[in-house]
Formats: sequence, C-alpha cells, structure tokens
Amino acid sequence: MSLDITFLGTGSAYPSPARGASALVLRREGQCWLFDCGEGTQTQLMRSHLRAARITKIFITHLHGDHFFGLPGLLCTLSLQSNADPNKPPVDIYGPLGLRSFLWRSLELSHSQLLFPYTVHELVPTPDQCPAEEFKDFSGLDRDEATRQGPPGRVLHLDPGEDSYLLVEDEQLVVRAFRLFHRIPSFGFVLEEKPRPGRLNVQKLKDLGVQPGPLYGKLKSGTAVVLENGATISPADVLEAPIPGRKICVLGDCSGAPGAGAARLCHEADVLVHEATLDDTQQDKAREHGHSTPAMASEFAQLCGAKKLVLTHFSQRYKPAGQGGQGDADVTLLKRQAESALRGQEVTLAEDFMTIEIPLKK
Ligand SMILES: [Zn+2]
Ligand SMILES: [Zn+2]
Repeated sequence: MSLDITFLGTGSAYPSPARGASALVLRREGQCWLFDCGEGTQTQLMRSHLRAARITKIFITHLHGDHFFGLPGLLCTLSLQSNADPNKPPVDIYGPLGLRSFLWRSLELSHSQLLFPYTVHELVPTPDQCPAEEFKDFSGLDRDEATRQGPPGRVLHLDPGEDSYLLVEDEQLVVRAFRLFHRIPSFGFVLEEKPRPGRLNVQKLKDLGVQPGPLYGKLKSGTAVVLENGATISPADVLEAPIPGRKICVLGDCSGAPGAGAARLCHEADVLVHEATLDDTQQDKAREHGHSTPAMASEFAQLCGAKKLVLTHFSQRYKPAGQGGQGDADVTLLKRQAESALRGQEVTLAEDFMTIEIPLKK
C-alpha cells in the first residue's frame, strides 16, 4: 500500500514565485490529506500531479495566515468542480479553536455555498503554547446565534494523560495532534499505521497438520481455528511477529514544545517534517519569532530518534538550489547545518512539488 507526501509550499510568511506558502499532501489508499493550506495552495495543487478532488481531510497546524488563508478559496473551487450529492461524506477539517468561525464567516460573507458538507473539529490550545501576552481565548466566537448554524464538528481538549489530542482512529491507523510552542498556539500531527499481522509460519502450520486453504486466511486475520481432530490452533501459534506500521509526523511552526507529548508521539518517526525558517547563525531571531533553525530541528529529530528529517518553511530569502540570484541566501547552508548537528545523517530539504515515498515495512 503506497504512502507518499508531496510538498506544495515550502516558504514561510507569504507565497512567492520561488516557494509557495505552507502546504503538503499525504496520499494513502487513493485519498489525499492536506496539511496546511497557505494562500495559493489551490494553484500549486493544479500544477502538481495530485487531484484536489481526492482531498478528504484537511489539517491546519495554526492560525497564521501563511498556513490557512488558502482554505476558503480551495473549498469553493472544489465545490465548483463537484456535483451535489446528498450521500457524500463531509470533508473533515481539523485545526485550532477559531477555525470553524473563520471558515463559516468567510463562506457566509462571500455568499459561498459549498455543494458538499464539511465539518470542523477544533483543538483547544493551552496557554503555555505561546508567550502569555499573545494568547487569545477564542472559545466565545461561536456563541452568537448566527455562528451556531455553522458546520458541525467536535471541540477537542487536550488529553492530559496522553499529552495529545485523538483526531482519527480506524482499523488501520491513528492520527493524533500534539502541542507546539510558537508566537501563537501551534500543533503537530502524527499519523501512525497500526501493525499488520505477521507472516504465517508455513512450516509450523504443516507440522500442526493445518492444510492450506481458508483456515490460513482465518488465522492470518486473527481468528482461532479448530481442526478436524479437535485441536485448537490460535493465531499466536503460527503467526510471526506483527509488522510495524509507518509513522509520519508533520509539525507546524515552532521553537520547541511544551510537555512530553511531542517527542513521545514522534518516537522513531519514519519521516519527521520540521520547520527551519532561518539558519543557525540567526538562532536568536528565530527563537524570538517562535521559529526553529536546522540545529534546533535536528535536536528534536535526535530526541525522538526520527529516521528521516525533512526541513521546510524556509524564509523566502533562501531560494531553491540553483534558483538564487545575487544577494539571495543559499538554502543548502541549512542542509549542511542540520547534517552537521546530526553527525552526518542525511537531511532532506523540501522543495515545492517534491514527493517522498515511505515504503511499507517488511
Ligand atoms: Zn509560518
Ligand atoms: Zn506561524
């Protein structure tokens, strides 16, 4: 089962011809899940090999414009391209408290009526996710009569025991959010596939007298079987160790994380997407703005034992390799800084339209 991520925007603050504003698409089983939707994301989607109509879930890391100003426009265009279908499941949108009111008001004020339903599930941040003077409580936004007619959705509070928010869980995977520290509350998301049952040990099956056929399938799916001789074979007798699923972590803007949730949830991530807005020589400035440098991103990657670190959200001054003009900074400096902090482990710099495949574990 293929799983890949495609970067649609790797620049910070605003979209430029060299780098779009933040957005990436995770594709699995033919579904596209969009993480952040900066201004211009819909045109980046059109320029990519992805189909916007396949988007079924959208995750917004935080409410800075470069991460979600593209959302009302994208939804309107998706609606123009779709047919009214009462049975269509809603597009699920996850993001910080306030997102529901923003979306509903944007669509209402512009008289935009979507042909498909959508839900907005809001994450309630904690005050330690940003400097005290920046924290704003948006919990009252939905109290007036008008907004109460807005889209449905859950209000998700931090699970203090897990230090995370449970967003999605089905038979195959779990998606959780965790808290990050930024100028305003920011979140990271982790998608983790559940382990797949291990291979059947064919030699053992033969020794136990189980004939190839439907019984194999039952055991593989976790059901015990009874043989003609009355013996019961349980799956644990004949299955090898479960095969771990893949883990992808996408972090919003941050200069650290309150609590232990972030590092624990990202433990041994197959891919960790982390921002690196400025290079290491500007660490003070980066911290002041709630951002990270390559060394800071590497430190987090090391803390959680991530297998692959991908840096993104570069200041627009860092032009993509080979596109720089006079006076532009060289983005490969950020790669060198991160790799030196990780003692030579290879680090990837995201570029617009770059796709990274995450192979199934064997
Ligand atoms: Zn940003
Ligand atoms: Zn930000």
